[in-house]
Formats: sequence, structure tokens, C-alpha cells
Amino acid sequence: MTDNISEPSNENTASFGFRAVPEGERQGLVNEVFASVAERYDLMNDLMSGGLHRLWKRDLITMLNAPRGDRPFQLLDVAGGTGDIAMRFARDGGPATSAVVCDISPEMLNVGRRRIEEAGLQDRITCVEGNAESLPFASGTFDAYTIAFGIRNVTHIDRALAEAYRVLKPGGRFLCLEFSECQVPVLDRLYDFHSFEIIPRLGKLAAGAAEPYRYLVESIRRFPNQEMFADLIRKAGFARVAYRNLTGGIAAIHGGWKI
Ligand code: SAM
Repeated sequence: MTDNISEPSNENTASFGFRAVPEGERQGLVNEVFASVAERYDLMNDLMSGGLHRLWKRDLITMLNAPRGDRPFQLLDVAGGTGDIAMRFARDGGPATSAVVCDISPEMLNVGRRRIEEAGLQDRITCVEGNAESLPFASGTFDAYTIAFGIRNVTHIDRALAEAYRVLKPGGRFLCLEFSECQVPVLDRLYDFHSFEIIPRLGKLAAGAAEPYRYLVESIRRFPNQEMFADLIRKAGFARVAYRNLTGGIAAIHGGWKI
């Protein structure tokens, strides 16, 4: 399945799925993917994961444990796309909880703003365009930082993690939901088949294009596994770093604290 992988050859290249591309061009290519899928993103998420992403996101929200009473608590959801995590968080938490959705894609944020207004949550959720690698927020601002299916899209994971640490208040919670390494024999074969054979075809049928979905699948295989990613989070300064596998490791939630 991974025969076509071209290794990034030097420090000026980065992997875009299985292709090595000039580092400075990678984010633009990622942005093209999300601009092209934005309007169908939520539908495709359900189709591609068979609804599993909803269960995984519910686990993330449970771990976030937003205050239910009147205590103010502000979440920053980076790479927040169409606002799914922020809306789930706002519905779960009390009236003084609020969220900022930050995403680099204006197209994804436009869909997000529309959904947030339709849900009547615009007073508690704000959308801000920005890059995870250089967040447009002051240091020590947020009680919690989440990033769901977002960090594998950034070019420099270490910079995004350093920014997560910077914008959190002392005592702040970091949580990342991301695809990971499937660790269950047989399930890993089925998952490979689904990823490389079914998902691009579904993309073509339901959204009219296979390529963006090929990138999404390939970028998952490029992402560090559970232990390697936990090490990166520790290196960014977070304490008590731990992770929990979901569906045999197809996805994982990594957590840490800014102490
Ligand atoms: N978090 C949402 C969810 O779980 O449904 C959306 C995830 S979507 C797979 C990935 C998102 O990452 C896209 O909205 C994309 O625009 C965003 N993204 C990619 N690179 C980014 C960057 N450097 N900074 C901020 N957002 C980025």
C-alpha cells in the first residue's frame, strides 16, 4: 500500500501525503484540499468514518469536562474547520463557557459560521482565521486547547505544539484527537482496504473528486504513531502526557497539561 511513498529528501521538502513537495508550498496545497471539500466536509466525514468520528469527538468532549455551572471557561479549537468540536463543547458546557474556532481556511470557517448561527451559538463561539503555527492570540489566554484531525495537516508539528503551549493559561488542558496507528491485527488490513480503496472512490462518488481524499488518507499514514507523537507533546513542555486509543488505535486522543 505504501510503495509510492517518496521520502522528503532534505530539510527544504515536506510530505504532502505520499509526495515530497517544497516545504514552502505544502500549506498552500493543504489549503486547496480543504477549500475544495469545505461544502461537503461534514457529509463526507460521516460517510468515510461510518459515523465513528462522532463517537470519537464525544470522547474528546467528555475528557474536556467543561464546567456546567457559571464558571467561565474558554476553549480554543485549532483547525476547527466547520465548528464541530466548538459546538459540541458549547452544548456540553454551562452558560459561561465559550469557544474560539481558529482555522487557516476561510472556506471551512464560512461553513462553520453558518452552522454556528443555525445552532444559535454565535454569542458563545467566535471564528478566527489563523495558522496553528503562529496563533493570533496573546500568551496565557485559554483554559483549554483542542485540535481534532488538524495537526497532521500543519507543516511544522513542533511549532503548532509550541503555540498550543504558549496560548494556554498555566493549568490549561491540551487535547488532540487524530488518526493514529491501528494496533489490532486483521482490523489493520480492513482499515488499509477501506482507506486506500473505498475512501477515494467515495470521494469521487459523493464529492466529485478522489484526489483530496487520497491526500487525507495518505497524510494519516505519514503522521507519527502514538508514542512518537506523545514525545513531541512532551518536548513542547506539556506535563502528564498520555494517550488513549480509539477503535483499536485507528484514532487516538493525546492529552497534556501546561503546569
Ligand atoms: N477539526 C475539524 C473536525 O474535526 O471536523 C476539522 C478537521 S479538518 C480534517 C482539518 C482542518 O485543518 C481544516 O479545516 C484545515 O483548513 C485546517 N488546517 C490545515 N492546516 C492548518 C493550519 N496550519 N492552521 C490552522 N488550521 C489548519
